[in-house]
Amino acid sequence: MNNQIQHITILGSTGSIGASTLDVIRQNRHFQVFALTAHSNVDALYAQCMEFNPDYAVMVCETAAEQLAQRLSNIKTEVLSGSNSLRQIAADPQSQTVMAAIVGAVGLEPTLAAASAGKKILLANKESLVMAGELFIDCVRENSALLLPIDSEHNAIFQCLPDNTRNPATSANLVGVKRVVLTASGGPFLNLDASEFDHVTPQQACNHPRWQMGKKISVDSATLMNKGLEYIEACYLFGLNNSQLDVWIHPQSIVHSLVQYLDGSTLAQLANPDMRVPIAHALAWPDRIESGAGSLDLTVAPALEFQNPDLDRFPCLQLGMDAANSRGTMPAVLNAANEVAVEAFLQGQFAYSKIHRVIDSVMSKIPCDSAQSLDIIQDADARARSLAKDLIAKAV
Ligand code: NAD
Ligand code: MG
Repeated sequence: MNNQIQHITILGSTGSIGASTLDVIRQNRHFQVFALTAHSNVDALYAQCMEFNPDYAVMVCETAAEQLAQRLSNIKTEVLSGSNSLRQIAADPQSQTVMAAIVGAVGLEPTLAAASAGKKILLANKESLVMAGELFIDCVRENSALLLPIDSEHNAIFQCLPDNTRNPATSANLVGVKRVVLTASGGPFLNLDASEFDHVTPQQACNHPRWQMGKKISVDSATLMNKGLEYIEACYLFGLNNSQLDVWIHPQSIVHSLVQYLDGSTLAQLANPDMRVPIAHALAWPDRIESGAGSLDLTVAPALEFQNPDLDRFPCLQLGMDAANSRGTMPAVLNAANEVAVEAFLQGQFAYSKIHRVIDSVMSKIPCDSAQSLDIIQDADARARSLAKDLIAKAV
């Protein structure tokens, strides 16, 4: 076991993944926090700085940064503000490990900055891979960065692949692998009649039966778009295509994904649904550390059930699989349209049942280009957002 001090930067520390990461660090004091970042929650970042005493705290919102700086004037933490500071801190040579836990497309640039600087990246921000898959993986490879998946499914797949002592993004070993199965809880509406989808509220959509998560990913879990995004993420991370990847609904969220081999063997990773498990795995990899999550007791666990997803009731998953098949800028278009539609739904401006229609419509109207540069990807993202906003404005 390597007990050397490991300096870590947490992008999005005040969110659900950020808080779970700090909880694992709390129990493993050989990780030292170098920098914490957040959008604008002064109270939460202040409390984290007081406890973990980082060298830097970054707030994207300038007024929030000023308030934080005043409150932290007595400790060593230096407060920075703005998106440029996020990128700078992600690439700072004083920290080797970066937890990428910002939600949404805004997480792409700081995560890319960490990849360009050759960091060990613990990747929760799946949008980085969804939007810029090939570009991002090339950047990891060219700069000898290490990319470890935090998404519980991808972390499970990584653990079940033939040789998981190598960088999954640059040399995933698929020798003997027949297919990979992503599991999905099915979310809060798994058994809700489709006729009820018109009346679903943000509060109901965010009330996930198994996981405590941020609002955006909770809505994505309800529509199964989260699985669509994860499908794309898995393709880029492990070098898979659509014929090698499947999705099974598994409401208990205990089997986090499976790898099936040519000889008929299936390997799965099982754990209680607690994000501290994949976080601790990636933090310590290739060693193992305490995560704070209890061990699984299968003698008292509920019976494990599996079923195929109903793509008619959950069309967002099909849209994700289509975008994975198209590659190029289509996953970025899908992601942008989804972010706009989910935000409108969360603001009470748009019906849950129409989210998939907007995304479908945007995907059919914006052509798929080759995603050769960040500019091309960001242009596709901007066009998709603008079109999605227009469609939503017309629909309400
Ligand atoms: P969250 O909403 O709880 O937290 C988001 C974090 O990002 C916060 O710290 C917030 O301050 C920061 N942030 C938001 N907007 C920002 C902006 N414009 N600029 C800079 N920072 C900003 O989200 P979460 O549930 O922790 O999810 C974070 C990421 O991890 C997402 O990409 C999500 O898909 C992924 N993920 C989450 C879980 C989970 O269990 N929560 C599981 C797997 C993957
Ligand atoms: Mg997941």
